[in-house]
Amino acid sequence: MLNFTVGPVQADEVVREIGAQQVPYFRTPEFSAVMLENERLMLQFAKAGEDARVAFMTGSGTASMEAAVINLLDERDKAIIVNGGSFGQRFVEICDIHKINNTQIKLEAGKKLTKEMLAPFENKGYTAFIVNVHETSTGVHYDMDLISDFCHRNGIFLIVDAISSFLADEFKMAEWGVDVMITGSQKALACPPGVSVIVLSGKAVSRLSSYNSGCLYLDLKSALKNGERGQTPFTPAVGTLLQINARLKAIEKAGGAKAETAKIAALAQDFREKIKDLPFEIVSESLSNAVTPLHPKNVGAYSIFTVLKDEYGIWVCPNGGALVDEIFRVGHIGALTFEDNDTLISALKDMQKRGLL
Ligand SMILES: *Cc1c(COP(=O)(O)O)cnc(C)c1O
Repeated sequence: MLNFTVGPVQADEVVREIGAQQVPYFRTPEFSAVMLENERLMLQFAKAGEDARVAFMTGSGTASMEAAVINLLDERDKAIIVNGGSFGQRFVEICDIHKINNTQIKLEAGKKLTKEMLAPFENKGYTAFIVNVHETSTGVHYDMDLISDFCHRNGIFLIVDAISSFLADEFKMAEWGVDVMITGSQKALACPPGVSVIVLSGKAVSRLSSYNSGCLYLDLKSALKNGERGQTPFTPAVGTLLQINARLKAIEKAGGAKAETAKIAALAQDFREKIKDLPFEIVSESLSNAVTPLHPKNVGAYSIFTVLKDEYGIWVCPNGGALVDEIFRVGHIGALTFEDNDTLISALKDMQKRGLL
């Protein structure tokens, strides 16, 4: 299987070898040391400020999206949510369920966020801004400088889901004044699913004390308190956290987040060059390095996913809902190489010869 989806993605050999080992008991100084190192490297790669902290949650990315909302917002807040696709919509649903007053900025598929769209929200008493910096469903990467300026000017608390963007695109948490950054184990961290990570600025850590999460499992005060000694309140996905540790250390050794991002950017660039002659249209106005969203000009998008999977053993990422036959996505995260890109391009060219593209 050759996997070009956006998660779970291909893991390298080191990560897979850890997956084959027995899972150790975790209330030990050894595991605490691993967790403290995970926190240090996450802070470094997110370019977080001095007083920032990290919570490792057992649960997929959505658990951390919900944790961020319930721990840091309540009925006193008025949130703006950028809703450009299914992940923006998920934040709307989370806020609605937890009765957080919210207004959406709804974007058409593939459209970027502009200054003009933010203008009506200036000085209107909004207290929180929630955005998926890379709306993975449509492959649109929003302008963080624009969002950061807006939030700074209006004194707004900024929550950023960078789940599919972290390590694929540069993230400057402290410089942008981001208060909460979320990522997950199965995207560019290229580990199995099951762990999500929340990086909190010093301001977000202080804010926790004036909010009540109303939830035992996703309580961030208790996650951070336990995290001070490298522990978690409950049994975490121990094996996945060990894999994350190996991955973070390997990235550090190879030059840090900058080098990892450059590698993903080069793979994306290579793929985008090589599809120039194929009957596809790139549908995003602003691309992340993580994904290329493609609209096939001649055939339905879902059939490409099916044929590649069943006849070539290659997985790309189908879209759901209204876009099922409009868009499919090719991911550039995980253990992929330029040769893998060539394999996918050859398969697509073969499909074209067979009249399937
Ligand atoms: C993958 C992803 C998530 C998390 O989804 P889970 O299935 O809960 O891991 C959230 N937001 C974005 C932007 C994503 O790409």
